[in-house]
Amino acid sequence: MASALETAWLYLINNFSDFQLASLGSFIIHESVFFLSGIPYLMMEKWGMTKYKIQGKMNTPAAQEKCILRLLLYHTCVNLPLMVVSYPAFKYMGFRSTLPFPSWKTVLFQIVSYFILEDFIFYWGHRVLHTKWLYKHVHSVHHEYATPFGLTSEYAHPAEILFLGFATIFGPAITGPHLITLWLWMSVRVLETVEAHCGYDFPWSLSRFLPIYGGADFHDYHHRLLFTKSGNYASTFTYMDWIFGTDKGYRKLKALKCEDAKKVE
Ligand SMILES: [Zn+2]
Ligand SMILES: [Zn+2]
Repeated sequence: MASALETAWLYLINNFSDFQLASLGSFIIHESVFFLSGIPYLMMEKWGMTKYKIQGKMNTPAAQEKCILRLLLYHTCVNLPLMVVSYPAFKYMGFRSTLPFPSWKTVLFQIVSYFILEDFIFYWGHRVLHTKWLYKHVHSVHHEYATPFGLTSEYAHPAEILFLGFATIFGPAITGPHLITLWLWMSVRVLETVEAHCGYDFPWSLSRFLPIYGGADFHDYHHRLLFTKSGNYASTFTYMDWIFGTDKGYRKLKALKCEDAKKVE
């Protein structure tokens, strides 16, 4: 007997083409996950919830509005066309939407691989974006928000959106996954980047339980510092910065904080 998910899936693939699902469908899922996960952090800032806030500063309503309007414009004019033009690459590599679904082991293996690949590409691309010319003309847009708030995760120059998009779709494009894997990957990647920019470090944040996971504290440091000194370039994990020594300032600060906390005790 088909599960509810399989029934819903059959409805989708019988009524929409692969192209429509992979482009417009992906766009709708991306927008829903992005705004639904980002808006609560925006509200927390609006309501002045400071208990777990990493920085003391808050963004003004005008700065928050500017971010949302720019995002809507870029998502429609850059992200959507990118999803449309990348479809042939997915198709060529064996992308499919038909039932049966892939096994959960395949889905998990592919998503973990995509995270590792994306983190590697992002790390090097991000380091290049921090060179003088590229920072001034491209990456400084993303750094306009020195106090990030979830939705700022995708606030960037169109050229950077294309680069980020490339890093995100590279894994799926070379492996041709099932559509459900693609949607799951996109959703967890969006949740991860929104969390990294949320501006709050909670006692239940994943980074407290998984040391190789960067999270909000790790990336917030990157936004607080001057572009030449920031470090912490990786998107998801901490090991690339550790291997290449670009997290020294962050580690020093963490060690100092630990010492201060011990003195207070
Ligand atoms: Zn940066
Ligand atoms: Zn950022």
